[in-house]
Amino acid sequence: METLIRNARVVMTMNDTDDAPQNTDILVRDGVIAALGQGLATTGDVIDASDCVVTPGLVNTHHHLYQTLTRAVPGGQDALLFGWLKTLYPIWSRFGPEEMYISAQIGLAELALSGCTLSSDHLYLYPNGARLDDTIAAAREVGLRFHPTRGAMSIGESAGGLPPDALVEAEQAILEDCIRVIDAFHDPSEGAMVRVGVAPCSPFSVSRELMRDAAILARDKGVMLHTHLAENDEDIAYSEAQFGCRPGQYAEELGWVGDDVWHAHCVKLDRAEIDLFARTRTGVAHCPCSNCRLGSGIAPVRAMRDAGVPVGLGVDGSASNDAGSLIGEARQTMLLQRVVNGADAMSAREALRIATRGGAEVLGRHDVGQITVGKRADIAMWDVSGIESAGSWDVAALLLAGPQQVRHLMVEGREIVRDGHLVTFDLAQAIVRQNTLARRLAG
Ligand SMILES: [Zn+2]
Repeated sequence: METLIRNARVVMTMNDTDDAPQNTDILVRDGVIAALGQGLATTGDVIDASDCVVTPGLVNTHHHLYQTLTRAVPGGQDALLFGWLKTLYPIWSRFGPEEMYISAQIGLAELALSGCTLSSDHLYLYPNGARLDDTIAAAREVGLRFHPTRGAMSIGESAGGLPPDALVEAEQAILEDCIRVIDAFHDPSEGAMVRVGVAPCSPFSVSRELMRDAAILARDKGVMLHTHLAENDEDIAYSEAQFGCRPGQYAEELGWVGDDVWHAHCVKLDRAEIDLFARTRTGVAHCPCSNCRLGSGIAPVRAMRDAGVPVGLGVDGSASNDAGSLIGEARQTMLLQRVVNGADAMSAREALRIATRGGAEVLGRHDVGQITVGKRADIAMWDVSGIESAGSWDVAALLLAGPQQVRHLMVEGREIVRDGHLVTFDLAQAIVRQNTLARRLAG
């Protein structure tokens, strides 16, 4: 099967030499980029991209898709992390399989419209029969490449943890279900549409033993590890009080560093922790809007990148953002680093590179994240003929003054968004169901 993307105004390839050819065609065959150049021909479909800046699909490295059902909950709107969690836990405990499925569909659709072709997800609570399988079914329907992680919480309130006892699971059951979902869904091969990871929720909601056993299990199975780390000052204080060390040391002691590990947030990493992450190639999911929303601080992304830490972007759960726009996160990344380090601290091009190839590398995907012959055809096409781009001189306008949504989006050579609309499933119907479920949860 072939598709020709014809006459793209600019292709920001994100290849090793950062080429950005103009008036260029991209030939896609059987899900792979087959050729790049001018005057290419096809017998298949043609997409006119003469009004478009074309980029690799954006990669989302941190999300809790289920939270799209709890956006803008009044009691959590203005709270810090721990207070925010305590407001939302009782609501989440009423979720079940249908809530997980619909909320994932909505979250992934929102990501697709904002240019995302590959998303991870961190699902760490399984009330009322909910399973990781529910979100994988949703991703298949939407058509995005998907890296769900089997999250978990095991220390409830009665044992000194933060979550209510009803939302925690026995550690043995957690490990057994990790094995089940890896065996059922994880695909290590090139071009994989689903890869599963192991992801205890955070050091403050599981035991030291589960952190250690999860790392052993993930390495045994050849899958990646993910959790939250060093999110804000409360998080650091908790680590020092409970474990007698900083989060980076805790992670290192339990096997949670390496190129098969990525941590969300890392707002409060200190110099030694940044060096540790760089040395071990441990990845970071930077979630700038969530960090702003919860007042957590500004992650030292400039220092991380300069040291060689792999950094990708995440929208984070929609209860703490509350939007799910990945192109918006790229813009916010650029702006926040400038707040701290000055106007030349991060260019629009660098932020886009973090959003695409950076995220792909954090997720261990070397087959996506760039528009290069032989890589998978995950491609976003941004219409720059609209009002927000009128008068723009340069492709940096994609972040400085660009469209908020894609015109076309392709995953593995398959069209997901065409002319600004999702074509894989009935989004309008899903929105109606989502709102019905949200009203039911609100009682
Ligand atoms: Zn998170």
